[in-house]
Amino acid sequence: MLGVWRSHADYQRFMVERINREFRRNPRAVDEFETAVLKMYYLDLDKIKNDSAELFSAVGRPSNQQPEVFRSLLLMSHFKYAGFDEWAAYASATPILCDLIGVTADSFPGASTHRDFLQRLWKAGKPNRLKKVGRKPKGKHGKSKLPPKHPGVVSYMVEKALSGEVFKVIPERLLQAIFMKTAVLPSANAGLLGDTSRMAVSGDGTCVESHASSYGHKSCSCDGPCSCPRRFADPEAKWGWDSYHERWFPSGLPVGQTGASRHFRGAKAQGIHGVSTLRS
Ligand SMILES: [Zn+2]
Repeated sequence: MLGVWRSHADYQRFMVERINREFRRNPRAVDEFETAVLKMYYLDLDKIKNDSAELFSAVGRPSNQQPEVFRSLLLMSHFKYAGFDEWAAYASATPILCDLIGVTADSFPGASTHRDFLQRLWKAGKPNRLKKVGRKPKGKHGKSKLPPKHPGVVSYMVEKALSGEVFKVIPERLLQAIFMKTAVLPSANAGLLGDTSRMAVSGDGTCVESHASSYGHKSCSCDGPCSCPRRFADPEAKWGWDSYHERWFPSGLPVGQTGASRHFRGAKAQGIHGVSTLRS
C-alpha cells in the first residue's frame, strides 16, 4: 500500500537547503547540475498522489518512498543511465543526486525498488516468455522500407477517433496522465506553450534494435535440435527491415509524441529563471 508521501513544499525546502550546502562546497557543480536541479524543483509530484495510490494494493507493507523513486527514475533518464544497478550505485554515492531525489545515502531506494515501480507504471500484463522461434524472414528489400502490413489502418483509426472512440487498453495510460499533470498542464498554465488552442501535435515512431537473443534459450530437455517453445528475454521483439544497413533485425517500436506551437515563449520571458534564484 502507498505509505508516507512527502509533500512537494517539504521536499523543496529540504532540497534547496541541501544543494546550497553542496554548491558552497563545490561551485562547479552548479553548472553541471543546473537543469537537473530546476527539473526537480518545479516537478510537483503532489499532483499525481492519487494516481500513484492506484498502483498499490489497499493492504500490505506501506511503500514510503514513491515520490523519491519517481524522481530517481527521472534523473536516471536525465543522466542517460540504462541499468538500474549502475544507476543505484552511482546516485547513492553522489551527494547532490541524493539531495535532488530527496533521500540520504543510507535511505537510497535499491535497484529492485526502481524496477518494481517502473513495472507498476506500465499497465499491461507480462508477456509470455515461452514461444516458438520466429525465423528470420528470407527476402531482401534493399534501400526501401518495408511496405505497411495493414494499409489503410491510419485512416481507419482517424475515422474512429473523429467519431469519439477511445482505446480501452493502453499500457502507457498512467504514464500519459502523469506526464500531462506534472509537465504539460503546469507548462501551459505558466504560458510556456503559448496559445494551446493553436498548438500542433505530431506523433512518430521509431524501431529500436532489441539486443536480446532472437533465438531464445532452450527450455526443454530434448537432446539435439527440436521445435519446442523456447524462453525469450524480449518476447515482444519482431523482425524488422533496416533499410539503411539493408538487413533484418529484431526490434520493438516505441512511439514518441511531440507538441509544438508557433507561439512558444521561453522560460525566462515567463519569469522562470535559472538556479541562481534558489541560491542563498
Ligand atoms: Zn524440445
